[in-house]
Amino acid sequence: MDISFYGATREVTGSSFLVRAAGRRILIDCGLIQGSAEHEQHNRSPFPFSPQDVDAVVLTHAHLDHSGRLPLLVKQGFDGPIFTHRATVELCAIMLEDAAYLQAKDAEWETRRHKGKHQPEVAPLYDQNDVHRTNRLFVPLEYDAPTPILPGVSLTLRDAGHILGSSIAELILHENGTSRTVVFSGDLGHSGAPILCDPTPVRKADLVVMESTYGDRLHRPWEATWKEMGEIIRSADSGKGNILVPAFAVGRTQELLYALHRHFDEWKLGNWQIVLDSPMAIKATEVYARHAGLYDSAARQWQAAGAQPFLLPNLKVSRRTEDSMRINEIQSGAIIIAGSGMCTGGRIRYHLKYNVWRENAHVLIAGFQAAGTLGRALVNGARHIRLWGEEIEVKACIHTVGGLSAHADQDGLVDWYRRIEGRPRVVLVHGEPQAMDRLQERLRSDLHADVTQAQFKQVIGL
Ligand code: ZN
Repeated sequence: MDISFYGATREVTGSSFLVRAAGRRILIDCGLIQGSAEHEQHNRSPFPFSPQDVDAVVLTHAHLDHSGRLPLLVKQGFDGPIFTHRATVELCAIMLEDAAYLQAKDAEWETRRHKGKHQPEVAPLYDQNDVHRTNRLFVPLEYDAPTPILPGVSLTLRDAGHILGSSIAELILHENGTSRTVVFSGDLGHSGAPILCDPTPVRKADLVVMESTYGDRLHRPWEATWKEMGEIIRSADSGKGNILVPAFAVGRTQELLYALHRHFDEWKLGNWQIVLDSPMAIKATEVYARHAGLYDSAARQWQAAGAQPFLLPNLKVSRRTEDSMRINEIQSGAIIIAGSGMCTGGRIRYHLKYNVWRENAHVLIAGFQAAGTLGRALVNGARHIRLWGEEIEVKACIHTVGGLSAHADQDGLVDWYRRIEGRPRVVLVHGEPQAMDRLQERLRSDLHADVTQAQFKQVIGL
């Protein structure tokens, strides 16, 4: 029995781990590599294993850095079951369709660029047909329900509290009379976050594969984060500028809508026009609204009292391109939530073009920004950005509200691990080198844990 690490090794995207046990191969996550255009070229590299030889996939959650290469896996011959939480099945239907649409547009653009240089056409990574075939392979599961997924392999999903349907995957493997429990943390949520429950503690494991996105950071307490948000909105109100919020369509958008609704009077949001400019985020919000049973107790109580958590009185949703273009004419008084979360694509780029050069505009960065992305450049204080070949001066105020993260911070990660009986061996994934180094040091010094960092293509025996 062993695990091979084929992605998210000393970086935060492209999650993919292959477990071999009982003569079977189980792939945990099959994520897109995201970041700079050059880095994303790695998505075109062949899988380091044969897709036909994979017997089953376990998907921890719907974010594309975990799910986004599933249609490619199917295109290249995988046709087994994909086990995941039932809410993830619904979110993936939306996200993978959108991903295929973006792949097609990217390929078209690349082809046009190549034409001038007499280079060959670029095919999309996968298309809608591959996505439909992928959707048919999903097997929806509930939390906390041990399920035999293959002979000798049992899976239990636990609520990871990161986005709706996000799961910690507990695999019990039986081979030649021995059994091993391997736990994949997936992305672990930030305790106390709005809407969702806190990450579930896991009782036992022989080996833990743990994310480390914020392994080097401590988030602000929630109260301080809400205060900070309120102050940004008030200062923008007096300057009469727009507030742009690049947001992941799934997770961050719903948390923001929920938080804005909760603080509606306190932040004087009646003065604003709140715009959700993302067809995908609108659909994902509908999925969130359908799964109230997965909310934490505060959100359930609020809803039981008659609230519709995501429905603000002055919320405008914009589905069509024409509606989105009309938003560009608004010069003040709008809070515009749009994707993509790291400004690498989507409608937020148009809003940046129309606002980022204005002194009274504000950009509220509320999520992790991977190295090489436009969002990261803004966080790092870039004075100019390039959009569609045009150089634009950055005069807007850029705010990084780190406390809103959907990931556990260092304390959250250490706490989650601390509760597992017998301090099992832990392998860190899904973090940039510094975050992994700091978390590794902390786990060693505080808990004397046996902790290593996964390397690309490393194989670890169980
Ligand atoms: Zn995630």
